[in-house]
Amino acid sequence: MKSDANPMQRAHAAPRCTARSKRSGVLCKNPAVRGWRVCRMHGAGGGHEAGEANPAYEHGLRSREWVEWRKEISELVRGS
Ligand SMILES: [Zn+2]
Repeated sequence: MKSDANPMQRAHAAPRCTARSKRSGVLCKNPAVRGWRVCRMHGAGGGHEAGEANPAYEHGLRSREWVEWRKEISELVRGS
């Protein structure tokens, strides 16, 4: 690397938050948290656990496995 390279270059190249302002519609543009598409102000690291631990979990019929499984069955029935 060149000695006169801007040390902030890597920071500026980091992926940006994809959240938009509710009022102005302007992109947030803060650096996104690793593994998230949003910054620390826009919900990165938050959220509930998936599956039965989620407070919205009712009976599991809409869980990922069941939805995929039903999709496979209907594809088999249609013969595609
Ligand atoms: Zn943000």
